[in-house]
Amino acid sequence: MFDHTYSEDLDSIKRQFSTEGSILDNILHHLPKYVDSADKKAELDDTMWGDFDLGFLNRMNIPLNLGGLDIAAKAYSRVLIFEEMGRIGPGICISLPGPGLSMPPVFSLGTLSQQKKFVDDFFTEVEPVWGAFAITEPSCGSDATAIQCRIQKNNDEYVLDGEKCFVTNGSRAKKLVVFASVAPDKGRFGIRAFVVDTTLPGVTIDRVENMMGLRPSQLTNFSFTGVRLRSEDMLGHTGKRGPLIDAFAGAQGAWDYMRPCLAGVINGSSLAAIIKAESFIEGDDHNLTSNKKIVLKNKIAKWKYQLSAARLLTFKAAHKYDRGNSCSLEASMAKAASSTLSMEIAHTLYDYLYCSAIGKDSFWERSYRDAKAFDILEGTGDMQRIMVSQLYQSQVARR
Ligand SMILES: Cc1cc2nc3c(=O)[nH]c(=O)nc-3n(C[C@H](O)[C@H](O)[C@H](O)COP(=O)(O)OP(=O)(O)OC[C@H]3O[C@@H](n4cnc5c(N)ncnc54)[C@H](O)[C@@H]3O)c2cc1C
Repeated sequence: MFDHTYSEDLDSIKRQFSTEGSILDNILHHLPKYVDSADKKAELDDTMWGDFDLGFLNRMNIPLNLGGLDIAAKAYSRVLIFEEMGRIGPGICISLPGPGLSMPPVFSLGTLSQQKKFVDDFFTEVEPVWGAFAITEPSCGSDATAIQCRIQKNNDEYVLDGEKCFVTNGSRAKKLVVFASVAPDKGRFGIRAFVVDTTLPGVTIDRVENMMGLRPSQLTNFSFTGVRLRSEDMLGHTGKRGPLIDAFAGAQGAWDYMRPCLAGVINGSSLAAIIKAESFIEGDDHNLTSNKKIVLKNKIAKWKYQLSAARLLTFKAAHKYDRGNSCSLEASMAKAASSTLSMEIAHTLYDYLYCSAIGKDSFWERSYRDAKAFDILEGTGDMQRIMVSQLYQSQVARR
């Protein structure tokens, strides 16, 4: 039978870590009531924080050895949690507090003291705290090795100049991990990663995008003008690996960390659409012709097995990550499979249900807009497919 709720594995993880499990239950219970207003206002409602344990949310993506949550310590558990949140509302899910995508580069590139200093801000229960990851620039997104943001050494300091765009939760973030180049002509080998406090002089928010999909995520454009940073703000600089580290590998690590979770969010969102479509068809006795119902039921049957396949790819990526292996190939496959399916489901249901259901229920319209955004964030579908082919070719060449 098709697994409608994803509940078994998630329930057993909740039982295993019962205190955190009941906090998670409480979050999942309250989250639905904020989804529509977050989508309409493209903002999170301040009143929602009273319903949530902020100590839990702030620590969601912090590794266990730095004080993170037991329940979210494994990639597999995170995927299950994100699936469930994605089923409830993907936009609100990726807008929740915590270090998010800024944590993995700090963890993989930073020294232990940089890691501890970075996470310190997130250990509070009284306010939501966000971190953000800034690599994309107005002139380059898919080819992130071509970034033009400059970092120049000036005696004991570094000076940051340039622009970043589409930074998820950027306007809310206390700290950014910014990727910039000491020498743009050196490509990935000129790239360094810095922790940048958003209150520093020279850090300006130019714009928060008015998004079509994933509207609460506040994609933010920054400009940096002569921002003075200390050498200890450069990830890895004071560590045993010294300044000549491959900071771009830290960005790759962040994508390996987050892509399976994101695929989980997308799968959860597809599941929600399938369940809702099924129940609409069941309850409908005058909008859809019987022919349309049959066609839709057949499509839903096909989506169910495609969703099962996308989930298995996602779990495979998570298991590889948990075993400490590179999961780039599986994570790209999972993200490509889940976002392609999500787009197909959204398009089809929009076409079939438009007159009957979409006008009356913001769910269909929102899921269509969100599906468009899924294909772009964290690497477009095209780029994931190119990566899959390149990674396969390099595997073949190694044999
Ligand atoms: C919701 C959302 C959240 C995001 N969050 C963040 C964030 O937190 N931090 C951050 O730094 N960035 C973030 N981004 C930016 C995102 O990573 C980029 O938008 C993405 O990498 C694509 O880059 P681009 O927009 O410059 O498009 P481009 O790279 O200009 O691509 C445009 C089109 O060309 C295609 N294309 C590009 N190169 C090739 C190629 N070589 N072969 C074939 N086709 C190609 C792409 O598939 C796409 O269809 C976010 C984006 C979205 C939508």
